Amino acid sequence: MSSLRFNAIKSINQMAPVVPDLGSRVSAYYAENVFTEEMMRQYLAGDTFKAIKNAITNGTKLDRKIADEVANAMKAWAISKGVSHYTHWFQPLTGATAEKHDAFFKPIATGKGVEAFDGDALIQQEPDASSFPNGGIRSTFEARGYTAWDPTSPAFIMEVNNVKTLCVPTIFVAYSGEALDYKAPLLKSLHFLETAALPVINYFDKAATRVFATLGWEQEYFVIDEDMYHARPDIMLTGRTLFGHSPAKGQQLEDHYFGAIPQRVLSYMADFEKECFRVGIPLKTRHNEVAPGQFEAAPVFEEVNIAVDHNQLLMDVMERVARKHRLKVLFHEKPFAGVNGSGKHNNWSLGTDTGSNLLSPGKTPKTNLQFLTFFVNTIKAVHDNADLLRASIASANNDHRLGANEAPPAIISVFAGTYLSEVLREIEARVDENKKVADSDKVMLKMDIHNKIPDLLMDNTDRNRTSPFAFTGNKFEFRAVGSSANCANAMTVLNTIVAKQLVEFHKDVEAIAEKGERKDGAILTVLRRYIAASKNILFEGDNYSEEWAKEAEKRGLKNIKTTPKALDAYISEKSEKLFVENGIFSKIELHARHEIMLEDYVKKVQIEARVIEDIALNQILPAAIAYQSNLINNVVGLNSIGMESHSGAQRELIQTLSERMAKIKSNCEEMNEARKKANKLDNLHEKAIMYCDTIKPYFDVIRYEVDKLEAIVDDSLWPLPKYREMLFVR
Ligand code: ADP
Ligand code: MG
Repeated sequence: MSSLRFNAIKSINQMAPVVPDLGSRVSAYYAENVFTEEMMRQYLAGDTFKAIKNAITNGTKLDRKIADEVANAMKAWAISKGVSHYTHWFQPLTGATAEKHDAFFKPIATGKGVEAFDGDALIQQEPDASSFPNGGIRSTFEARGYTAWDPTSPAFIMEVNNVKTLCVPTIFVAYSGEALDYKAPLLKSLHFLETAALPVINYFDKAATRVFATLGWEQEYFVIDEDMYHARPDIMLTGRTLFGHSPAKGQQLEDHYFGAIPQRVLSYMADFEKECFRVGIPLKTRHNEVAPGQFEAAPVFEEVNIAVDHNQLLMDVMERVARKHRLKVLFHEKPFAGVNGSGKHNNWSLGTDTGSNLLSPGKTPKTNLQFLTFFVNTIKAVHDNADLLRASIASANNDHRLGANEAPPAIISVFAGTYLSEVLREIEARVDENKKVADSDKVMLKMDIHNKIPDLLMDNTDRNRTSPFAFTGNKFEFRAVGSSANCANAMTVLNTIVAKQLVEFHKDVEAIAEKGERKDGAILTVLRRYIAASKNILFEGDNYSEEWAKEAEKRGLKNIKTTPKALDAYISEKSEKLFVENGIFSKIELHARHEIMLEDYVKKVQIEARVIEDIALNQILPAAIAYQSNLINNVVGLNSIGMESHSGAQRELIQTLSERMAKIKSNCEEMNEARKKANKLDNLHEKAIMYCDTIKPYFDVIRYEVDKLEAIVDDSLWPLPKYREMLFVR
């Protein structure tokens, strides 16, 4: 194995850089592989275009005739671009995207055929549901599953080595109707949010007829050399290093962040960005992240549905293009211990068809009250549902990241910024529930608020990078989301809790208004109540500090550090009520998902445990033994020439090696026994807890000894590429 490591180092040094073919300016090829509105207009009859447009914006049903016409148009467009196959593209709960290709070509007589694609094929396909996670839905119902066309996300052409496939974004449901993917509940949550937000936005803006959530994700990732990757079975099988001594130089000099992008990586970035532009992903930003070997890509924000698809597509494209550059992209939340992990910040806001961003502080008192309404309701929603938000980002991978090296802790809190916190305090102090607010007082209050907000906008230094959920001027940024996660989980929960909150807000305001209070007075009164009720979720300080953990505990905020426990929030009575009543998940779906997530957790930890044992016993111990044998030969040799007294260091090393090897071996054995016990448990929850609390702790114990060995064993015998070799791609 050590030969793999040295061959990798050698081949990197000899490698010629891959120069990407970037073509002309981006605007010339942007979205050329998307069936855009413009293309639809070109390929569809006027009425059909109107019908499909209406379906996209207002969710109206499409009849079969229209579907046939759209299918025909898509086919004509795709064939003109050299496409031979189509697929329903969907996002099952595996975390990856899925596709099953069918040819347009259809034989009609001996030696004859045509290209066909009709409404049926566009609307529905039937992949085998039993091969995707379904959390028991399969055993109670039929194994059949259907993908169903989502006209709100445009079809696109995926091009891999000149093989072109038309991809139709779809949702994926079981025969019995239960969702088996990320998209179906996301779409339901967006619908719920829209219906809940409209009556509230109409308090301020009568003309608004659509409200939609927006998402701008920031995707962090690591890049390592492909040969290095192949020499690290732990990264290959689990996505992260299970061993590795921290390098003499890590991120402590902070010279990587925003530094010049390494050449090889820059070529790679430009190449995958081009592919992304062609499928309409509006990438905007690229830069180095804090850890060596870590980078970020971010687009201009879009409606949540599209942004989620684009993020999944980006990850596919990045993995694919990396091969061309002989690189591997790592989306794991914590591929390397001791340096920063990777997140996927979810910047979230609400927009209207009248062009406003509801989380953008306004220029007039009226729009400020509008801003405050959505701002405070979001905070209240997070306060009331912090557990659920924590659950939405839970995964075995993210457990390693949250609370470690510059990542938000598992405690959910909200950063509002100094100025807005003060505005909130002022409202709380000055609006009196029991007294009707005097008109003059109200005006003054509004003016005060109004005068403060422009300051905030000018003062961009008021940023807190440590908060899991931060207000950043015109949006909230949910930073605890993991880099490999599908954004849909976090977004579904956030949309749902804010929607539920807005429904309540509307009710509360109407109740006061019915008693004769003016609307804006009623709104302020309700906001004041919410501010008072949710202020303990606000935190402006350093979320990474130990003091915060203590302070949060005093405030009664939860710090749920591990996934099996965090996931409980999904199936609490409160969540069931929230999701079921509002049509996001049925009870069956919710429990199925909970089960799938627990199972995923168990499998991930189980695989890691196996890989640890494998590498420790098959690679590390043999390397240590080889080195020890060399030392023993040396000692024997020294003895034979009468220099026994000069073998002290060697003898100490021989002993240390033996001691560490013994610990590695015995801990691997104990861990193996513990796994056998866990595997016998029938209850999935108990099994996950056992993997988490009893088995996972061995990882650190074994790793500690292995990393110590790495520090003393002859470098030429060490089989695994070292951190310094993997992290500094040039
Ligand atoms: P940071 O300083 O956190 O890296 P950036 O400005 O680089 O911030 O990224 C901010 C992200 O927020 C971008 O993806 C951007 O598109 C997104 N964003 C900006 N406005 C909105 C909005 N109204 N809704 C959702 N996302 C937004
Ligand atoms: Mg950010």
